[in-house]
Amino acid sequence: MREDGRRIVCFIGIGSNLADPVSNCLESIDRIAAFARSKITGRSSLYRTEPVGMPDQDWFVNCVVEIETRFKASTLLDILQKIENDMGRLRKDRWGPRTIDLDILLYGQEIIIEDNLIIPHPELHKRRFVLVPMCEIAPYAIHPSYGISMMGLLNRLEDLNAVELITLGPSICR
Ligand code: ATP
Ligand code: CA
Ligand code: CA
Repeated sequence: MREDGRRIVCFIGIGSNLADPVSNCLESIDRIAAFARSKITGRSSLYRTEPVGMPDQDWFVNCVVEIETRFKASTLLDILQKIENDMGRLRKDRWGPRTIDLDILLYGQEIIIEDNLIIPHPELHKRRFVLVPMCEIAPYAIHPSYGISMMGLLNRLEDLNAVELITLGPSICR
């Protein structure tokens, strides 16, 4: 728990490209709400995205959620990694195929540099598959290291990998 007990607005990047990626992303959001005892205050659409870093694999499904949490960032990371493990994620290649990947993108306006936790996420400003969903739910959120909004970062982005909106039928949409 944070020492001051106050809630922090935090953004989590979600990705999956194994089994049923849409279901995996939606299930991870339910688990975040339950296990992280956090209020989900925003959720982007789902996007079909071209893999970055390791091209020879299936396209991903990505989205971003906004939560309000009282957990410290390091505790939140532990919780997200437990959710990844519970959902059957095997840690093999970085950037390789995965059932679910949960990254802390922003934690309030804090800058954290620890051995196993860097916030803002070090690739946030370089990735279209993160900035497009971020801009959908928080275009004016400021990247605390650069002092630039998500919209500003998207406008100056060089990443040309495809990011396509997924339209879900009403039965899946929740
Ligand atoms: P990338 O971090 O480039 O998106 P990845 O998500 O595939 O790659 P993982 O294998 O999921 O990388 O994570 C590697 C390590 O990154 C984790 O063990 C974790 O300790 C560390 N890490 C550092 N900063 C963060 C962050 N902001 N959110 C999640 N994990 C982080
Ligand atoms: Ca990642
Ligand atoms: Ca990760």
